[in-house]
Amino acid sequence: MGKDYYAILGVSRTATQEEIKRAYRKKAIQYHPDRNPGDKEAEEKFKEAAEAYEVLSDPEKRARYDQFGSAAFEGGNGAPHYTDVEDIFRHFQDIFSDLFGGGMGGSYYRQSASRHRVKGRDLRVRLKITLDDIMHGGVKRIKVKRKVKAPGSAYTTCPTCGGHGVVRRVTHTIFGMTETTHRCKTCEGTGRVLSRRGEGADENGLRWIEEIVEIKIPKGVREGVQLKVAQKGHDAPSDYGVAGDLLVEFKEMHDPSFEIKGLDLYHELDISLPEAVLGTTKIVNTPGGKIKLHLEPGIDPGKILRVRGKGIPRLNSDEYGDLFIRVNVHLPKKLSEEDRKYFERKLNDAAFGVRKNKKKSFFERIHDIFS
Ligand SMILES: [Zn+2]
Repeated sequence: MGKDYYAILGVSRTATQEEIKRAYRKKAIQYHPDRNPGDKEAEEKFKEAAEAYEVLSDPEKRARYDQFGSAAFEGGNGAPHYTDVEDIFRHFQDIFSDLFGGGMGGSYYRQSASRHRVKGRDLRVRLKITLDDIMHGGVKRIKVKRKVKAPGSAYTTCPTCGGHGVVRRVTHTIFGMTETTHRCKTCEGTGRVLSRRGEGADENGLRWIEEIVEIKIPKGVREGVQLKVAQKGHDAPSDYGVAGDLLVEFKEMHDPSFEIKGLDLYHELDISLPEAVLGTTKIVNTPGGKIKLHLEPGIDPGKILRVRGKGIPRLNSDEYGDLFIRVNVHLPKKLSEEDRKYFERKLNDAAFGVRKNKKKSFFERIHDIFS
């Protein structure tokens, strides 16, 4: 069944948008955290009302809710969810600004208005990864040049907008007065301006530093995957802000011994003519560890052996690809007189003759060594 958002706001199922907004404002005032300090139940009701309003004030979400109930939002499918009260104030800032802006002045609201948290710029780096990194993951330490708050830099409330980040402008026209709000140009909407520039700081109070950042590489990471290291980008150009993120892009390095296709690995195994004729055992150093291959006597040159599960792992999964090993037989280029005579004698020997072999396709030639 889930939550009844209409009941939470105390409106009928046919309520208009205006009625829903009015009902929510009423609940928000009733359960406002400033009016119910320390009251956990009121806080829950406050969150619940915000959740209900988020759904019912959005025509698309409301239609989904009317049809499927709160099950429509299960599994993170646009589900409204508020864990902290400040979040709600940020989200519905427009409603709360005309609710509490004119004198009611809840401390929560004051905070969210003046502490317009800005985010610093993101930083991008490219990180080369080896086959070993893909196989096992690991930790890499890289040197990052980022801008951080310079020691001695200080900020103060923006004098233009009084910390609100926006300015109101009144225009007189023949139809009367209109009021519009604009993002404050002095502080770029942050509500804060630099009051003292620290040593070596730029106009935002930031300066360059070099920092070693540890990056945890998950196994199965591939080229094109982007990893976010939170708050290791540039600092915010204000004291009420959070640093941007460090975005790491991976670049796969070519491995001379193993070619990667999807999750599979391809490897060429070189053996000599006597080894091919007599059969042999080979140890292959694969990225997943050493494996022992027994090659039967008279193995066909170009034969492809498949070793299941010895490819590379899929990101965030236990799945592994396969390893394909192609057997190359190297023929001697120069023969001694004695060897040449030996092979000449074999020219008419049926055991050395050409066998009638059906032409097999590449995939048919793959020999599953565990099957
Ligand atoms: Zn300003």
